[in-house]
Amino acid sequence: MPASVRIVDIRERTVDISRYSDRSLPSGGLTTSIVALATDAVRRGRPVVGFGFSSVGRFGQGGLIRERFAPRLISAGEVDPVAAWAAMMKGEKPGGHGERCVAVGTLDMALWDAAAKIADLPLHALLRQRFGDRGNPAAVCIYASGGYPHPENDPVRLKEELRRFRDSGYQRAKIKIGGVPLSRDLDRIAVAAEIFSAPHSLAVDAMNGYEPAAAIAAAHAFRPLQLMWLEDVCDPLDFETQSAVTAVYEGPIASGEALFSVAEAKLLDRHGGLRRDRDILLFDPVHCYGLPGYLDIIETMETRGWKRSAFWPHGGHLFSLHVASALSLGGTEVNPSSFQPFGGLADGAVLSAGCASPTDLPGIGFEGIEALDHLFRRL
Ligand code: MG
Repeated sequence: MPASVRIVDIRERTVDISRYSDRSLPSGGLTTSIVALATDAVRRGRPVVGFGFSSVGRFGQGGLIRERFAPRLISAGEVDPVAAWAAMMKGEKPGGHGERCVAVGTLDMALWDAAAKIADLPLHALLRQRFGDRGNPAAVCIYASGGYPHPENDPVRLKEELRRFRDSGYQRAKIKIGGVPLSRDLDRIAVAAEIFSAPHSLAVDAMNGYEPAAAIAAAHAFRPLQLMWLEDVCDPLDFETQSAVTAVYEGPIASGEALFSVAEAKLLDRHGGLRRDRDILLFDPVHCYGLPGYLDIIETMETRGWKRSAFWPHGGHLFSLHVASALSLGGTEVNPSSFQPFGGLADGAVLSAGCASPTDLPGIGFEGIEALDHLFRRL
């Protein structure tokens, strides 16, 4: 990174996002923050601007970004993502992660986008140079994520959505459960399993919604189904229930999406009953204080006996895809129809055997998604 490059401006805005491709359906008032980080570097005759957003599922973080973290970044001026991250975190106290980790992760994403554009490399190549295995292939195992219950005509719309996934080349999919009675969820799973019928090609995500007794009942009911995994089965910090579920459910269990720190990851590992030979870790690189925080979690879990192949980062967007590719993770989520225009692969991306490669545009490649490029440029 040339030492002379400086951050000259940071802009942020909160925007609405929806779980549904049909934006007229109510989606719980979900938002995300978008940020643009302008530098004084020039590539191809234009100033380099890094773009980032708050991943999905945790709302916008405008207050923390405006009041605390963007001013620190501007005053440090530092563009190198690791040094800039340290500047953002200066003075922060241990614990109390709240959602400040998401605010930091949002700016961290823009820093990496800018750094890769300045290096004139796609992000996965820059990360591979700095942290990864330089020889590994770029393609990443992916699954299509969606299957939120529709307020009306749910089974038909669920089937249509999953057919679209399959017809686009996805070989694995995940649907949401837990918001309706168990008998209805079993019907929804049966509908989805007609399309994704191979064993271990369909995952279910209870979105941390089950109370303890319901979590155990669901685990018993899902045991015979040969699911890819059972995800977010109870409150993220209810390790007692997580562990009890693990004791009765032999198939893979996925957890960690709503935990944001190394300390929480260690608690999950110590008390959640997870099994290193089959279970899945979903930590979201953006929500975990950005890439430096996420790398810290990976290294900590590796020293405790976990393999990188257990990591399937949450998010379903291009940043997660670059990270999974560069760090040789097990795979990653893709949101082909939810959380648009942030979710999914680059426009025109082609899947091969259920896998995808990140775009080779410089940076994260948001410019390869027309609607997203338009949104960031207006910022
Ligand atoms: Mg989940």
